[in-house]
Amino acid sequence: MHVAVVTGPGAVELRNEPIPRLGPEDVLIEVGTCGLCTMERRLFDGTKPIYPVAPGHEAGGRVIEVGQAVASLPGSPQIGDLVTVDLLTRCGTCRMCRRGRSALCKRPQGGTLSDGTISMGAGLAEVVRVAAAQTYCVGEIPVEHAAMGEPLACVVHSARLSGFRPGDRVAVVGAGYMGRLHLALCRAWGASCAGMVDVDEQRRAEASAAGADWVAGPDGLTGWLGQHDVVFVTAGTPGAVELALDLCDDAGAVVLYGAFAKDVMASVGADRIHHHELSIIGAFSQEPEDWRTAAGLLQSGALAADLDRLVTARYGLADVADALALTVERPVYRVMVGQEAERMSGSSRTSRER
Ligand SMILES: [Zn+2]
Ligand SMILES: [Zn+2]
Repeated sequence: MHVAVVTGPGAVELRNEPIPRLGPEDVLIEVGTCGLCTMERRLFDGTKPIYPVAPGHEAGGRVIEVGQAVASLPGSPQIGDLVTVDLLTRCGTCRMCRRGRSALCKRPQGGTLSDGTISMGAGLAEVVRVAAAQTYCVGEIPVEHAAMGEPLACVVHSARLSGFRPGDRVAVVGAGYMGRLHLALCRAWGASCAGMVDVDEQRRAEASAAGADWVAGPDGLTGWLGQHDVVFVTAGTPGAVELALDLCDDAGAVVLYGAFAKDVMASVGADRIHHHELSIIGAFSQEPEDWRTAAGLLQSGALAADLDRLVTARYGLADVADALALTVERPVYRVMVGQEAERMSGSSRTSRER
């Protein structure tokens, strides 16, 4: 079977890899589509130089083989089921896993391909093997929605840690893919008002078309300050923490979801946090209960229209180099790669973009 391996900046090749042997608790998935995340872009553009590496951690596909111990186990995916796939390592043994915080598992992530290539998901492939416990059935939905299970689980995690409740007033800073998923989730979960902040005019217009109650640039927030119960920061820029706090009403929560440059500091008045019962919360990755919620949401179809808007382009696995190049060339929401993406784009050597 073929798997995409990034061998250096701007260089990716398809390697032939033996079909993985299943353990008794594993399932084998035929990958329909795999989304390209920031991680894949950074590996390809050389800002995260780890080579050779098999990336791809946002996979959706169908179960084609089931390990003996989980065959016909109620609740466990069976042959033919469409699933979204959790490709993170969760050791279950380290302190964070034991605390139920497996998003922060201390065991080094990933394994290797047969030739020693580092795997960071290895979902840009024809098949992946994964523990049945880390696959989630999504019913019959578009395969590319199944491939959005990982980012959606991250957003569910973020909303869960925020303490968000229906009726809350929400602001999202950063209208990229993750910001838009936050918007979609909070709207579906009954935010009374959900607005978005972004520097880019086109992204603001697209967020507005997707149902944001208001959109504004960072300089145009005067009318929105002090009016939010939860603020999600999905664009980790200098000043974003201060801006998010300014958007909060009393008892507001700021969730730092997006990554920041290591040297970005935030200045916050300690008494302001005390006196106004403000919270600043970090959110990173996802945990099994977030996956369960995300998979159920995908199956419900409640977010289907939102998810459709977030597919920027589709490519077959043979064109993975073009797909990765697109993520470097211009801002994208999600670029999808795989046989289902190829089928939907209509031809193996062309892509359909919107
Ligand atoms: Zn991702
Ligand atoms: Zn662990």
